[in-house]
Amino acid sequence: MAEGSLFSFWHTKSQTFFFYLAISLTLNSTLTCLLTYIVYTSAKNYRTIAREYFEKLRWADGKIVCQKCGSNEKIYKIRDGAIYKCAKCRQQFTIKVGTIFEDSPLSLTKWFMAVYILTAHKKGISSIQLGKDIEVTQQTAWFMMHRIRFAIRQGSFEKPIDGVFEADESYFGGLEKNKHKDKRTAGTQGRNTKKKTAVFGIAKRGGDVFTTPIKNVKKSTLQPLIKNMIEKGAIVITDELRSYNGLSVDYAHLTIDHGKGEYVRGFVDTNTMECFWSLFKRGIYGIYHQVSPKHLDKYCNEFTYRFNTRRLVDTDRFTKTLGKTDGKLDWIGLTGKDKNWKAKNLTSSSVALP
Ligand SMILES: [Zn+2]
Repeated sequence: MAEGSLFSFWHTKSQTFFFYLAISLTLNSTLTCLLTYIVYTSAKNYRTIAREYFEKLRWADGKIVCQKCGSNEKIYKIRDGAIYKCAKCRQQFTIKVGTIFEDSPLSLTKWFMAVYILTAHKKGISSIQLGKDIEVTQQTAWFMMHRIRFAIRQGSFEKPIDGVFEADESYFGGLEKNKHKDKRTAGTQGRNTKKKTAVFGIAKRGGDVFTTPIKNVKKSTLQPLIKNMIEKGAIVITDELRSYNGLSVDYAHLTIDHGKGEYVRGFVDTNTMECFWSLFKRGIYGIYHQVSPKHLDKYCNEFTYRFNTRRLVDTDRFTKTLGKTDGKLDWIGLTGKDKNWKAKNLTSSSVALP
């Protein structure tokens, strides 16, 4: 497969690199100059290979689309193909324009490594570690990861879907019982949910998971989400939370009573969601340590995307992710300084439920 060969090529190249490096260190002679040149040219080739690979992925029919005027009639390649020039509007652009890589001074090879690493690690990876792995600063890695999370964001779901579903909610934030007595919220017995952020999730049996942070777990919050996504008449399994009362009007609503220690009754369980929450929590508490409620939706995207692509091998997931990199995330968009940004950018669907 194409994506497999790309990685095996990198692997072979890096072996060649270290081989030459070892020899040049040993000999420390004029040969070093020659070898440095070879290493330099192989490094240059990495970039060409990455660019050509991405070009094939973006424009599978071979027709490069001008990112300035949209024409695909006549695009010239200049500077060994590193820059495109449109015959119609006379403007120049690179392969990065119109993608999450736009305006980034980093090479595509570094970006590809970041995409691969972030999407392959089941529990995520810290920006410190990613920075070390691909030799960029922690801040750069942090921003890169947010751009990648933007690429793999969940979409809106216009059409409700049919099948067997599990709906469940979970809380993120410090557990009251683990906090020092002075810091606990009064009268909570360690079960307070006021200081935590709730996340709601829907899993289609044998299909994808959808998750989103929610303001509260009231009926008025949860039920519209369910009704927007799930076709009437479908089977919906939940726990005994009162907010789900009344779902039986539109659905075959089955409940499992976690409070009474019941977790499975025939096919009635919320184990797909439980499995997702456990992975999500291990990542949030073990790798990211703390996630502000403001950014929790981005982590929902990251973990949901990996979960929904869990049956793919890492290289296929990598290629799939590169295919989603259209669109641009700038600093204002990330930090939320432009309030209209979300409405403008997060409406198109990028992760489709089956
Ligand atoms: Zn043009």
